[in-house]
Amino acid sequence: MQILFLGTGASEGIPGVLCECPLCEAAREHGGRNIRRRSSVLIDGQLLIDLTPDFWSQAVAFHVKPGLLQTILITHEHDEHFVPAELQNFVPPYRLSDEPTRLELYAGQRSLRKLSHMMDTQGRTALRGFIGIHELKPFRTVKTGAYTITPLPARHCEGAMIFLIEREGRVFLNGNDSGYFPEDTWDYLAGKTIHSVSLGCTNPSATESPNHQSEEDVVTTRRRLYQLGCIESSAKIYITHISHTGGMGHDELHERMSTYGVTVAYDGLTSEV
Ligand SMILES: [Zn+2]
Ligand SMILES: [Zn+2]
Ligand SMILES: [Zn+2]
Repeated sequence: MQILFLGTGASEGIPGVLCECPLCEAAREHGGRNIRRRSSVLIDGQLLIDLTPDFWSQAVAFHVKPGLLQTILITHEHDEHFVPAELQNFVPPYRLSDEPTRLELYAGQRSLRKLSHMMDTQGRTALRGFIGIHELKPFRTVKTGAYTITPLPARHCEGAMIFLIEREGRVFLNGNDSGYFPEDTWDYLAGKTIHSVSLGCTNPSATESPNHQSEEDVVTTRRRLYQLGCIESSAKIYITHISHTGGMGHDELHERMSTYGVTVAYDGLTSEV
């Protein structure tokens, strides 16, 4: 599988649109990997995780191919992860194509309620004719295209999920926007083989962040995955969903996290799993 990080920022992105903190000002000045769109990944060009307010700019910047995208997974309904109104741009008359691929959308109950509300109140009920809509439930594995996906509970908000995604024996854990994983998620992961992991690290220095991962959570999670036999010491561990509140630009954060064997993702980073 090829993982493309389309965005690696938290809810406000970096720079925050009107934020004048030193980090956001420095990000405006230096650009590059310091700029973080809202968090999302695209797998093999086919499987999108989260539909953010930045999807248009992500698709243009990172050359998302229109004919490849087949499946959209939503982690939870918060606005930086799921903007249902963007779906209208995926179907006619906003999308003109001789052979449009059919899209399948998988999300939990709360996100699907948000989608229904948008369609009903904005006159978009015709979307139902173009997009297959499927409800995800924790621990219930689904198969879509070449992928086998198991949603697992996250400690973030009611109904939030992380995803264990397998294709041809290779396994990626999309584990951002959770606090330290709940114990029933750990029970499920025990003994599974995972080749690559993406975790949140919203504010690395946070000491009280039950709903987001901190640096300490990332290190503890990595250690426990290793102790459970899920990963080898060489497994790729990425952090994403990074907030300006941590106050660190890409290079500083990279230096700090590399001591733990953790890679700081940036917008546009690709990784083979
Ligand atoms: Zn988030
Ligand atoms: Zn800021
Ligand atoms: Zn959230």
